[in-house]
Amino acid sequence: MKQTPRNGPECQGAEDVAVRTPYRPSVKESWNELSFVPETTGHRPRWSGSHVGQSAQKKEVIVIGAGPYGLSATAYLLAAGVEPYVIGDPMGFWKQNMPKGMFLRSRAEASNISAPQKHLSIESYQKVLGRKFPDPLPIEDFVSYGEWFQKQVAPNLDRRRVQNVSKNGNGFEVTFEDGEKIYGESVVLALGIGLFLHRPEQFLGIPAQLAPHSSALTDLSQFRGKRIAVLGKGQSALEYAAILHENKADVAIITRAAEVKFHSLAWRKHLFRQLMAGPLRPLSYRILPPTDLGDIHTARKMADPKKFRRQSPEAQESLLRACTKPAGAYWLPSRLKGVQVKTQVSVTGVERASAGLKLALSDGTVEHVDVVVLATGYKIDVSKYNILDSALRKSIKTTPDGYPELTTSLETSVENLYMAGVIGEKTLGPTLRFVTGTSNAGPYLAAGIAGKRPQ
Ligand SMILES: Cc1cc2nc3c(=O)[nH]c(=O)nc-3n(C[C@H](O)[C@H](O)[C@H](O)COP(=O)(O)OP(=O)(O)OC[C@H]3O[C@@H](n4cnc5c(N)ncnc54)[C@H](O)[C@@H]3O)c2cc1C
Repeated sequence: MKQTPRNGPECQGAEDVAVRTPYRPSVKESWNELSFVPETTGHRPRWSGSHVGQSAQKKEVIVIGAGPYGLSATAYLLAAGVEPYVIGDPMGFWKQNMPKGMFLRSRAEASNISAPQKHLSIESYQKVLGRKFPDPLPIEDFVSYGEWFQKQVAPNLDRRRVQNVSKNGNGFEVTFEDGEKIYGESVVLALGIGLFLHRPEQFLGIPAQLAPHSSALTDLSQFRGKRIAVLGKGQSALEYAAILHENKADVAIITRAAEVKFHSLAWRKHLFRQLMAGPLRPLSYRILPPTDLGDIHTARKMADPKKFRRQSPEAQESLLRACTKPAGAYWLPSRLKGVQVKTQVSVTGVERASAGLKLALSDGTVEHVDVVVLATGYKIDVSKYNILDSALRKSIKTTPDGYPELTTSLETSVENLYMAGVIGEKTLGPTLRFVTGTSNAGPYLAAGIAGKRPQ
C-alpha cells in the first residue's frame, strides 16, 4: 500500500503528495479567477455530472455533501476526468441553518466556490444574471450562485440523505435513509460543520425551543416582541443579534469577553485591488491573496498550503487561531445600535420559568428571557460523523484534538476515504474553514484521487 504523509507531527515538512501526481495544483492555479488549465491524467472532462438511477454498479468516487466543498471537489474531479456520484442537498446548510437576511462576512472575491473552469466564478454568475451583487454579499445571492454552480457540475445529483457509510471489501457501502445502497471505490465526505455544533453544558437539559443553537434558526421574525439573549461574541452572535433587533425583538448579547470586537473596513486592501485591476489583478492576488484572511505578513502563509505546512506546529496553530478570533464584520456596529451588550459575564445557572428561562449570571444578576440563542460555535470532532459506521469511525486515526490525520490530498488513514472542509484546516491551512479554502481542497483532493488511477 502506498504510504502518504499525514498531518500528524511526523509529517511536518513532508513532501506534498499532490506534487507527485500528474495533476499539480499551485497557489496561482488555485485562485479561480486566474486562468487555469489543469494537467489531468489525459481523461477528457465530462460535464454530465452524476446520475440518479445508476445506483447498482460500483461508483469510482462518491462525494457526500453538496455545499461549497462537495461542489468544488466535483468540479475539480470532473476536470481531472473523474465523474463522481454526488449526494446532498445543494447549499443545504446555507438554506436551512443560517438566518434569512444574513450577509456574508467574506467579500465576494473570497466567496468563490473554486473550480478550474473560470466560468464558474461569482463574477461569471453575475454576468449571467446581468446584475452586480451588493457588498456585503446577501446570503440569498450566494445560495443562488451555489445552486447555479451545482447545476453546472452535478445537475442530476442525488438529494437523498445518507444514513450509513461502511467499509465493503476494498471500497465502501453507502446506505441512504430509504434503505437503498450504493457502492464506491472512494468516498469524499464534505459534510460541513453542522454535526459539530457546540452547546454549553449549562444548556444540555434545556429544550431546544427555549435554547436553540443559532444553526437551528432561519426565520428570526418569529421572535418579534420577545426578550432574547444571544450568547457569544463572534460574527454569528453579533449578526443574529442585529437581525433579531431589526425584527423588533428585545435583544441582549451576553459574553464572557471584556468587549465585543469588530473588524475595521480594510480600505487599504480595497484601494490596492482597485488600483491593480485588469491585467494587474493576478499580480495583486500574488501579493495579497483573495482570501480575506490575515494581513500583509500572514496572508500568504494562510492562503498557500505549502507555505502553511512549512511553519512550525506552534506557528501553524497561531495562524489557525488568528482566523477564528471572534469579531464582527465592519458593517455590524451601526446595526447593533440599541442592543444591550453584557460583557464579562457568564451564565452560571439556567432554570425554566413559567414562560421562558431564568439565567443566573456570574455578576449576581438574573435575566428573564423568552429564548436564549446559543451562538456558541462549533467544535471539530470527527467522532461526531454519525453516518460512519462505528468500525470505520474507529479505524480513522485522529489527532488528540479530534481532527482526522489527513494526507495533503485530504485522505484519511482509511485508504480512499477523503474529508473536505474545515476538518482539513490543520492539513492545508485556515482557508479550509471558509468558502475560499475550496481553492485549496479541490485541487489537492482531485490530484490525489486522479493520481491513483492506473496510467
Ligand atoms: C452563520 C455562518 C455564517 C458563515 N459565513 C461565512 C462567510 O461569510 N464566508 C465563508 O467563507 N464561510 C462562512 N461560514 C462558514 C461556512 O459554513 C463554510 O465555509 C462552508 O459552508 C463549508 O462548506 P461545506 O461544503 O464544507 O459544508 P456545508 O455548506 O455545510 O455543506 C454540507 C453538505 O453536506 C450535506 N450533508 C450533510 N450530511 C449529510 C448526509 N447525512 N447525507 C447527505 N448529505 C449530507 C448537506 O446537505 C450539505 O449539502 C459561515 C458559517 C456559519 C455557521
